[in-house]
Amino acid sequence: MKITNSDTTNHPENNEELFFSSLRAADWSEFYGQENVKKSLLIAIQAAKERNEALDHILLYGPPGLGKTTLSHLVSKELGTNLKVTSGTALSKAGDLAAILTSLEDGDVLFIDEIHRLPKAVEETLYPAMEDFALDIVIGKGPSARTIRLDLPKFTLIGATTRFGLLAGPFRDRFGMVFRLKYYTPEVLSTIVNQASQKLKVTLTEKASLGIAKRSRGTPRIALKLLKRVRDWTQVKNGQTKIDLPEVEEALEVFAIDEYGLNEHDRNLLTQIITKHNGGPVGLTTLAATISEDTLTIEEVIEPYLIQIGFLKRTPKGRVVTEKAKKHLKSLGF
Ligand code: ADP
Repeated sequence: MKITNSDTTNHPENNEELFFSSLRAADWSEFYGQENVKKSLLIAIQAAKERNEALDHILLYGPPGLGKTTLSHLVSKELGTNLKVTSGTALSKAGDLAAILTSLEDGDVLFIDEIHRLPKAVEETLYPAMEDFALDIVIGKGPSARTIRLDLPKFTLIGATTRFGLLAGPFRDRFGMVFRLKYYTPEVLSTIVNQASQKLKVTLTEKASLGIAKRSRGTPRIALKLLKRVRDWTQVKNGQTKIDLPEVEEALEVFAIDEYGLNEHDRNLLTQIITKHNGGPVGLTTLAATISEDTLTIEEVIEPYLIQIGFLKRTPKGRVVTEKAKKHLKSLGF
């Protein structure tokens, strides 16, 4: 399997991306949780292989860091085909997409991250490509312009998005399989942390891995990031690689991550709604201006977990901080 990454915005040369790709599940046995998604994918892959057909297009959606990119790697590995990785922001013109599509081979997987960010013209070029494996190219301009149709290899598109609602209906309908990835339980995250600790050559007690898992907002990417921080902290403080719960607690206190896994941004959002907007409701744009954050980051990254743990509510009039959140903030001295 050959993996090509044409997304320069998310290039693995970036240190953090390198860290995550080094810990990426090498096969299905290292990909924990999301059992229904895994099962459905494996059945569909086996059926496609038996019929010698391209696998249906797949749409994966859910908050960042839940394993969408990893799944696309596993799917192409299972199919035994090449994987091409790009993103909605990297494909600014229909020509960018055409160049990638024409470089694919039969059965290959094209992974487009942040697919909701594709410009409309690029999205529309994808429609015939997804449906008929064809590319419509307009030649010439004005009255003499004509369209020619180019056949494409039978590829599988895997689209990933954090914003399912932003995709146009006709676009969504062109995906044969649509899966929503869910937040992980602390137990599953703890297994993920444990597996990563072996790859990173550190020893974690059971309590320590569960301690990290509980503060990871249900997200493997955050769990691995916290593990990295705890590892650095333990090494600098104790000069050792054995990590127990006190090390986790001390390290995460240094990084201002509380027992719910909330960081300064989360707490700031909640406290600003309480102090400046009387606990809410407050509209998204006003909130974004209050905390100097863009609305997308609030909606895609900060809010989903706060809503999930019952700290924030979305009402027709705006965001409201719950009593549960107020109690938690009070216990921290806010
Ligand atoms: P996304 O594409 O949804 O942002 P990634 O696939 O990049 O998420 O995952 C981020 C990190 O978390 C990667 O290092 C990946 O190996 C790890 N990871 C994600 N999901 C799982 C899982 N279910 N089991 C094990 N590791 C996982």
